[in-house]
Amino acid sequence: MRHRIAVVGSGPGGLTFARVLHRHGHPVTVLESDPAPDARPPGGTLDLHEGLGQLALDKAGLLPQFRQLSRPEGQAMRILDTAGTVLRDWRPRPDDRANPEIDRGQLRDLLLGSLDVRWGRGVSRVTPGTGDGVLVHFADGRQESFDLVVGADGAWSRVRPAVTSVTPRYTGITVVETSLDDVDTRHPDLARLIGDGSVAVYGPNRSLVAQRNSGGHVKVYARFRAPLDWHANLDPADVEAVRSSLLALFDGWAAPVLDLLRHGAAFAHRPLHVLPVGHTWTHVPGVTLLGDAAHLMPPLGVGANLAMLEGAELAEAIAVGPGADVDAGPRRLDDVVRAFEERMWARAAKWAEITTAGLERLVGPDPAEALAQFEEVQPS
Ligand SMILES: Cc1cc2nc3c(=O)[nH]c(=O)nc-3n(C[C@H](O)[C@H](O)[C@H](O)COP(=O)(O)OP(=O)(O)OC[C@H]3O[C@@H](n4cnc5c(N)ncnc54)[C@H](O)[C@@H]3O)c2cc1C
Repeated sequence: MRHRIAVVGSGPGGLTFARVLHRHGHPVTVLESDPAPDARPPGGTLDLHEGLGQLALDKAGLLPQFRQLSRPEGQAMRILDTAGTVLRDWRPRPDDRANPEIDRGQLRDLLLGSLDVRWGRGVSRVTPGTGDGVLVHFADGRQESFDLVVGADGAWSRVRPAVTSVTPRYTGITVVETSLDDVDTRHPDLARLIGDGSVAVYGPNRSLVAQRNSGGHVKVYARFRAPLDWHANLDPADVEAVRSSLLALFDGWAAPVLDLLRHGAAFAHRPLHVLPVGHTWTHVPGVTLLGDAAHLMPPLGVGANLAMLEGAELAEAIAVGPGADVDAGPRRLDDVVRAFEERMWARAAKWAEITTAGLERLVGPDPAEALAQFEEVQPS
């Protein structure tokens, strides 16, 4: 008897979990609310770290393919002050593979491979402790039982309430995202400003970051401190109104920097929420969480990495850990999940502390602190 295992969510964490189980011949059901893999724009580029996301891809047998797709040159980082003066211009060595960038869509396709995902299967809640394991309730009213349900369903997880009543809180810092296409031909000055990787400009309590994706696509992130409802009087569909309010927020910044906002095509509002640093829960047999569902933290380059490594480690422990082939009983599965949770909590707490402090410095009153933060995390 093989365990009936479901993972809710086909983000980086859920797909890595499923892919590693699949690699070891263990069946897994992937439940995803999106109707298709390309139902939404996949989002910006991700840097995958050697000891985290890349380690997870190695466990999934996908590291060589990642190396072919990823962009080591995308690690380059330029820091400007609000007058447009270049303060730092860091470029990786040609052989530097510490944190190469990959487009989210490319990563998703790589992980998806031949995996069988049940698209359009939104989960509304899960009920543990039924006579037949954990009952998954779908948004369309259907139900199905599993021995283990892994909630990899992101910030607003519908699995999380089965293990904890804690919900994300707003950090007081928001992000408005926009993008530029064909930057090298349509905006050559901006292409030079951004370089091969990213450019970041830090002012008091706000920053602008532009990051190159593949194919001349650039994502621009305006981060600033604001109440959650700062845009209550703005129609999000009115691109010019949103643009004007952003330009007013960044008033006085150098013209080439503001061009990042002037040329943005459309704007998406992404307020930053987090779960408490060191968030844990009392273990519930048959249900666990990983990734943002377990430890949502500021987006400073580790969330997807952690989700992927957690997915890979849990899958490996289930499929090939001690006793995997001799005792498929519920007790062993529960021991594996408990051990996984302890390890995940300890590692996530460390990163949640680092990223929470980092966000305060990057969007803080003193831009010199943002520069210091960059120097501390960037190799010389
Ligand atoms: C601007 C920005 C930049 C970032 N840059 C980086 C970076 O460079 N490196 C990095 O490591 N991290 C980065 N992050 C963080 C990273 O995006 C997240 O931490 C990561 O995506 C979390 O992965 P996940 O698999 O846990 O969840 P998600 O990626 O959120 O995936 C959750 C999945 O679950 C599905 N789902 C949700 N609810 C349900 C439901 N009820 N039923 C079924 N399916 C459901 C969703 O559709 C989605 O497919 C960044 C974040 C932001 C916002």
